[in-house]
Amino acid sequence: MPADELDPIEAATARMSSDETDRLGWPDAAAQAVELPPLTTIPTPDYRPGCVIRYWCPLGCGWWHDEMVGAEPPAPPLILPAGFTSADIARAVSEQAAARERAYVARVEQAIAGHFEAAHPDR
Ligand SMILES: [Zn+2]
Repeated sequence: MPADELDPIEAATARMSSDETDRLGWPDAAAQAVELPPLTTIPTPDYRPGCVIRYWCPLGCGWWHDEMVGAEPPAPPLILPAGFTSADIARAVSEQAAARERAYVARVEQAIAGHFEAAHPDR
C-alpha cells in the first residue's frame, strides 16, 4: 500500500526506519512499564466538605464509610542510619508513606468487608 493511502500517523511511521525511531529517543514501552497497584475492593470515593473522604457501598444500598483527612495519628520519627544520606531520608520517608497507605487501605477494606458481612452476607 502506498504511504499516501495510510493514516497520516501510520504513513509517517512507515517512512521512518527503526534506526530513525531509536534516534528520536522514543521511550521503550517495556522500560516505561509501571507496576500495577494491588487489587482492592475499595470503590472510588466522594470528597465531601470538611475533609471527609466517603466510600459508598458498591452495591448502592446507601451505607457509607467516612475517612477524615488528617485524622490519623502523627507519623513516628524516621529511623535513619548513622551518617545518613539524602537517599536514606528519601527511602525512610517513602517506606513510612507506604506503611501509612497500607494501613489506610486495610482500614477501609475492613470497614467494607464488615458491612458486607452484616448487610450483604450472600455476596
Ligand atoms: Zn451495602
